Amino acid sequence: LTETIGRRLDRTVAAFGEREALADVPSGRRWTYAELGRDVDLLARDLRARGVGKGDRVGIWSPNCPEWVLVQYATARLGAILVNINPAYRTDELAYVLNQSGVSLLVAMSAYRDSDYRAMTAEVRGRCPELRETLWIGDPEWRLLDSPGGFPELDCHEPINIQYTSGTTGFPKGATLSHHNILNNGHCVGELLGYSEQDRICLPVPFYHCFGMVLGNLAAVSHGACVVIPSPGFDPAAALHAVAAERATSLYGVPTMFIAELGLPGFADHDLSSLRTGLMGGSPCPVEVMKRVVTDLHMPEVAIAYGMTETSPVSTLTRRDDDLEHRTATVGRVLPHVEVRIADPVSGRTVPRGTPGELRTRGYSVMLGYWNEPERTAEAIDPDGWMRTGDLAVMREDGYLSVVGRIKDMIIRGGENIYPREIEEFLHGHPGIADVQVVGVPDDRYGEEVCAFVVLRDPAGTLTLDDLTEYCRGRLAHYKTPRHLRVVTAFPMTVSGKVRKTELRESAARDLRQ
Ligand code: ATP
Ligand code: MG
Repeated sequence: LTETIGRRLDRTVAAFGEREALADVPSGRRWTYAELGRDVDLLARDLRARGVGKGDRVGIWSPNCPEWVLVQYATARLGAILVNINPAYRTDELAYVLNQSGVSLLVAMSAYRDSDYRAMTAEVRGRCPELRETLWIGDPEWRLLDSPGGFPELDCHEPINIQYTSGTTGFPKGATLSHHNILNNGHCVGELLGYSEQDRICLPVPFYHCFGMVLGNLAAVSHGACVVIPSPGFDPAAALHAVAAERATSLYGVPTMFIAELGLPGFADHDLSSLRTGLMGGSPCPVEVMKRVVTDLHMPEVAIAYGMTETSPVSTLTRRDDDLEHRTATVGRVLPHVEVRIADPVSGRTVPRGTPGELRTRGYSVMLGYWNEPERTAEAIDPDGWMRTGDLAVMREDGYLSVVGRIKDMIIRGGENIYPREIEEFLHGHPGIADVQVVGVPDDRYGEEVCAFVVLRDPAGTLTLDDLTEYCRGRLAHYKTPRHLRVVTAFPMTVSGKVRKTELRESAARDLRQ
């Protein structure tokens, strides 16, 4: 599709004006598509009256709420570039993002849980010379201004959005995305999930991340479906309550969110029979969790997505009728109009099927570049358009892709490549282990050795390295068997629910030096 987001919204308003577009469970507020279109226009006129025009950067720093969605479409109408800011950011991170992208107007939520956003913006003001104005969501002082005239004609290949990566492996990078990038990705994923105007998509995932904003909001607007907001931040009980109360047909989450929902004490009391499908991604899902999502959460068609912020985000997806094996061992097949190949990380040559290598991808979904970072963009995207993902994957004989892990996480022990994920899956089978992460630590003899971080099922229990070695004996190759063990109560996580392996690696290496 060569269409702008604003044009797409117009078409959906025309086709499905009377149908519900947005339902906010905490406040009970609702919008039909006709009402959404009207409010988006009012907000776009207001932003224009405040000096926002094409190419200007507008930041949004808020947990999920209906205004987030209005701002998303209002900036798209004006051709302004929306800068998604993680609501968990504190002053230093906020100042970094505002300056890096040159935000002139910030829309923020005044208070959320224990954070005072007003105090934090006051603090960064002196450090962000380009920031002219902050608008507070829900503020009674915010009177909508008007501005005359129609909205500009826009090109779908122009930038519309800067999304910062999760920062799992280092400082977040600002992926710059066009209407074309994200609208097509949202549309296509929605189509493969079988969305229509009958669907109601419950989104406990954050809007500031592509998972919520593209695969939730844009997929919904593409197909006339309704977005259901269960709570501002993730709350497993609120998510299940919203599914039941709103008769949601689809539920999204990273694996840790589904684990939390399935573990709720009152789980069986919720009527989840309306669910049909959903989307899971961001990190690998353990087999046992997937089984329960399919049966206990009534999501027979749940799909697994692989992607990254830089690729709008999805590159591969499982299909509606895939079996459990494909939904757990693979991340599905490549999306239409996207190319994927597995390359030798050094030579860049495509490797044979069945051999691990770096996943590279090309097509409409590849970002325009990192905002204001031409060197990093050139490192990530080859001149012929292939994006290096930094992920290791295998293309199976059946055309499905298996993600093996990140290149940076691969352990090289005495010249042998070790993929932590394989050992993690194996150790998940240990009855005493609730969760496990495997990293490489420096070793004088072999260069690197395997270290397992383990969360025990019974917090009062014990597990020694000898027990672990015994468990691995005869079942896991000698060189893959962990030589170091750390029992912990939790892993350091990013806000998007990913384990910060770099931190685990550093802490293990520190312990060893002492
Ligand atoms: P940063 O780039 O700042 O270090 P990040 O890569 O975690 O952070 P995102 O763009 O949010 O930021 O995440 C993309 C990454 O998430 C992918 O490169 C991949 O490593 C991982 N990932 C995404 N989906 C899956 C999946 N289904 N299975 C395994 N890993 C996945
Ligand atoms: Mg990344």
